[in-house]
Amino acid sequence: MAESSRSVATTCPYCGVGCGIKLEVNASDHIVAAQDDPGNRSSIGMLCVKGRFGHSFVQHPDRLTTPLIKEGGEFRPASWDEALDLVASRLLQYRGASFGTLCSAKATNEDGYVQQKWARLVMQTNNIDHCTRLCHSPSVEAMLTTLGSGATSNSYTDYENAGCLVVTGCDPTSNHPVASSRMRRAVVERGAKLVVINPRRIDMCDYADLWLRPYPGTDVALLNGLANVILTEGLLDREFVSHRTEGFDDWAKVVARYTPEYTEQLTGVPAEDLRQAARLYAKPSAISPLPSWWAWGADR
Ligand code: SF4
Repeated sequence: MAESSRSVATTCPYCGVGCGIKLEVNASDHIVAAQDDPGNRSSIGMLCVKGRFGHSFVQHPDRLTTPLIKEGGEFRPASWDEALDLVASRLLQYRGASFGTLCSAKATNEDGYVQQKWARLVMQTNNIDHCTRLCHSPSVEAMLTTLGSGATSNSYTDYENAGCLVVTGCDPTSNHPVASSRMRRAVVERGAKLVVINPRRIDMCDYADLWLRPYPGTDVALLNGLANVILTEGLLDREFVSHRTEGFDDWAKVVARYTPEYTEQLTGVPAEDLRQAARLYAKPSAISPLPSWWAWGADR
């Protein structure tokens, strides 16, 4: 490692796991290395290849270091004052309903707050949107309805304490590597059961007790089939259902149609595998009294 003169604690900018990084910075304010941060509760000293080595873009020579204004088909360097005046005067032409703003999921909460404030107060519009509407809105809507919040309901520590993990419609090893390490830790070090539901083979299949491969687009039928087994085999927590849920009987009537054999016809997943998966998921385990159902970014 080149000589570092100070260490700056920050968060990896790449994925939603939010791993802690300590950037080693030299006397010229250049990043010379990224170290893991054992004190960070999200990553507890782990980093994937992106977090550990993907910081060279910060000082890359291709990065713009000054605003550019296009004149006569050519960009010329400009001062910040000149560029901001130009942008402000152009934006004014669109003030009101003809203006809209789209926020990035990579922005911080604070950035998002400032952006909506700016759109409403300065640009006088409510046309504010977020990329989540495209990639995440079905799951947000479902979570709001069922859990009351569109945010995740488990901590990373819960993964390691779970008796059973069900990884459905996602590939954590590729998309959220450090979170997947904590799942593997639950399986390898603590004996948790792992069910992967994915038409595609993912790395987590190497650790799975069961890999269900439904036909694409049949995931709702598959989940109904699992629920059918849980209901018919009496594996549900009746006390929880009676105290914490509503509309249960209507839902149970829908699920009653999805016998393992009928679900097999719809999804291609063998009826016996469905039964086994439902039992792994719903039966209390010796490790944890409640298993954890985990689906992160079902569309990723
Ligand atoms: S898992 Fe990798 S990419 Fe995601 S936050 Fe952690 S180090 Fe960054």
